[in-house]
Amino acid sequence: GKDGGSAATSNNVYVKDKDLAWLPARLKSQTDKEAVVSIPTYDDEAAIANDGGKNANKWTDKVVKLKEYEGGTLPMANVDKAGVLTLKEDMVDLPFLHEAAILYNLKERHRQGFPYTRTGDIVIAINPYQWLTHLYTDKMQDQYANKMVWKAGDSDPRKELEPHIYETSALSYKGLAVDDCNQSILVSGESGAGKTETVKICMNHMASVQKGPTGEKGGDGLNEVVKRVVESNPLLEAFGNAKTRRNDNSSRFGKYIMLQFDRDANVAPGQRVPHCKIAGSKCEVYLLEKSRIMTHDESERTYHIFYQMIAAKEADKVKIWKGLKGTTNASFKVIGHTDTTSIEGKSDGDHFYETVEGLAKVGVTGDSLMTLWRAIACVLQLGNITFGPPGGDTEKSCVTSKSEFDSLAELIGINPTELEKALVERTMNARGEVFKVPLKPDAAKDSCEAFGKEIYSKIFLWLVREINDATMAEKNYKGARKSDFCTIGLLDIFGFESFPVNGFEQLAINYANEKLQQKFTKDIFKAVQEEYKFEGIALDDILYDDNSDVLDLIEGRTGLLAMLNEECVRPKGSDKEFVYKACNTNKTSPCLVQDRLLGPLDFGIHHYAGKVVYHANGFLQVNQDTIAPDLIEIAKQSSNDIIANHMQNDSMTKDDGNGDAAAVRAGPKRGKSNMASDTLWNKFKNQLTSLMKQLNETQSRYIRCIKPNPIKKPNIMYHMTTVEQLRCAGVVAAVTISRSAFPNRLDHRACVERFKVINKTKGNKKDKSKVDYKDEVTKLLTAALTPLQDETGKPAFVVGKTRAYFKTGALEFLEGKRMEAW
Ligand code: ADP
Ligand code: MG
Repeated sequence: GKDGGSAATSNNVYVKDKDLAWLPARLKSQTDKEAVVSIPTYDDEAAIANDGGKNANKWTDKVVKLKEYEGGTLPMANVDKAGVLTLKEDMVDLPFLHEAAILYNLKERHRQGFPYTRTGDIVIAINPYQWLTHLYTDKMQDQYANKMVWKAGDSDPRKELEPHIYETSALSYKGLAVDDCNQSILVSGESGAGKTETVKICMNHMASVQKGPTGEKGGDGLNEVVKRVVESNPLLEAFGNAKTRRNDNSSRFGKYIMLQFDRDANVAPGQRVPHCKIAGSKCEVYLLEKSRIMTHDESERTYHIFYQMIAAKEADKVKIWKGLKGTTNASFKVIGHTDTTSIEGKSDGDHFYETVEGLAKVGVTGDSLMTLWRAIACVLQLGNITFGPPGGDTEKSCVTSKSEFDSLAELIGINPTELEKALVERTMNARGEVFKVPLKPDAAKDSCEAFGKEIYSKIFLWLVREINDATMAEKNYKGARKSDFCTIGLLDIFGFESFPVNGFEQLAINYANEKLQQKFTKDIFKAVQEEYKFEGIALDDILYDDNSDVLDLIEGRTGLLAMLNEECVRPKGSDKEFVYKACNTNKTSPCLVQDRLLGPLDFGIHHYAGKVVYHANGFLQVNQDTIAPDLIEIAKQSSNDIIANHMQNDSMTKDDGNGDAAAVRAGPKRGKSNMASDTLWNKFKNQLTSLMKQLNETQSRYIRCIKPNPIKKPNIMYHMTTVEQLRCAGVVAAVTISRSAFPNRLDHRACVERFKVINKTKGNKKDKSKVDYKDEVTKLLTAALTPLQDETGKPAFVVGKTRAYFKTGALEFLEGKRMEAW
């Protein structure tokens, strides 16, 4: 019985399913418009597989419309005689390469315990949600390092090892040590996909690759600098990570860590031979989520460090809170109730003392440490302050939480009367006159929270500067210049986001992703060109989706960014007016969503990864990103050094000479439209521009992290969410680009072995080792594919140096022949 699934045929295909993306099926018959397929049913999503129907419960017939499929044909499965999936370590080697083939190849490998798979130069990393310790041993580290770095011969060393992110780190290291070219590794994926872990794994690997050409461990092994570099990760996590619904340890900021390696400074530039030992690191951070500082969803938490500090020993806490006893989570509104008191198996209290150790490694101890804790305590305390109308006058406000306020004044070291004034009044400046306006209780509460958020974000930047000061190679090697070091940058940045409601943050994140996508597409395109050149194949024009239209809509001269900034400096500017103007001015953009049903505060963008509607409520305020001058002034009176002296410092390094701080400060003096130059958009855009510039000076490699299921369980892959992530990560687009001229490819040997059954010119009983596969392939294909020549006699395939490339339909045609011959 054909239906029973025992027969081997070339009719193994995939059909679309609205819930399960793609299902394996058997093609029974087809006309021009329709096909009849038989679909196996399995117990659950996890069990669905190309297993030749072995584990299927039953088969159901279904009619599908062919016009819903690309090219009007059902995508074919890569299966063996028995209908069982043939797995590939590199998806480029899948004879039939499309979304369904990618999904099932990843799914089956994931199930078998292989979380890493390649697509050409890209590594796809499926979060295993269990520590596969055998993958990260010293031996594994060495194996990849040795193979990639020092023994690279003619053949591609990757072919001899399973795909791994160690491959990416090792190849980057090789690019640096052997080719003397700065490198970058771009890690992307949605929250919980494993980006941060991946970066840590790669960093540890590179820190371990401190070897000379002969393979001996370099001199001092893991020196102090390396330790500091590695230790800086948990520090950033303590201050910038939080528990969210999707990830218990979710980074709420983007980061770019540049590992610095030393060069031999005594040789002329251009001829420098890198020693390539880690000499330091420098990190940049992007867009710490501010809203989380003062409020969070009930099932989530604010930043780890708050809980850690409160879980410290009572004696330590009393010192921080200047004698105040018995502080618990319940003491602070910002914290509220939480059921979680440990993250990744370690209690908040244990984490606290680890953080203390980590801080000590970067030189934050003693007074400076106490200053840090008290600044954080101030943030907690600010969340507790309440306001009410004095004597029933609802136009004004005063502090109504006296003892909380006294504790705050004590901690922050500001005269209580002055502090209260700064919180309940605004200094206005109109027509040369300066006067005070009282704030209503709600407004006072808002400004109090804004003050807390501002302090925390500046604490975070302060910490980044401290870390950089302790780890930057320039600081560790006296007299050294930046150019004495070469770098490998690791980018850990939020992937494309689309929620039921999307705000300013999503817009910024998606903007960054568009920028990175543009680079990704360019790089992939270049790689395809190089491959064809290597294979000796002439390349016709390749068409691919370019996202410059979207970028134009966002950052162009009259784009959304510009409109928002303009609205921010207009005296009566409003969120609604911004949306109206932005949409009106850009109504001819193909990327602006034209939908009459959108509300007056909504606008939509067709991103490369899909349509997203943004809700502009609060955009102006978030974009202005400033707190009232009264608060900036009062902060200067604080006895706490961080609060008094760092509130206007956005720099990432202490180096004032040519750092970002100088650029930001110089900003307002330039040109005339500079009123808005300090907006959050501008800051982010400048950061992003500088990041892209840095990245463009490196050789980039990509790791795409995928979250296989939302329930954080090993071995389970949900189809729909995985396919969506593959689309967002541009994996499908990358494949499309590389397939656009010739959709299928097979290496010569595989081609000969697969199709020798249809080779009429038998009698090739030559010694196997002497077979010239390229020659064989040419003969075989020329004979077999003559019927598919086009009008001009051009064949439907090209034979390259190592592979044969097939035009649309050619491989399917050969498969048909093979089945006939069986
Ligand atoms: P992201 O940074 O993308 O939000 P994380 O790197 O924080 O995600 O990973 C989320 C969680 O997934 C981690 O806390 C860990 O439990 C698990 N995880 C990620 N990568 C791995 C891995 N390689 N092996 C085992 N577990 C992992
Ligand atoms: Mg992260």
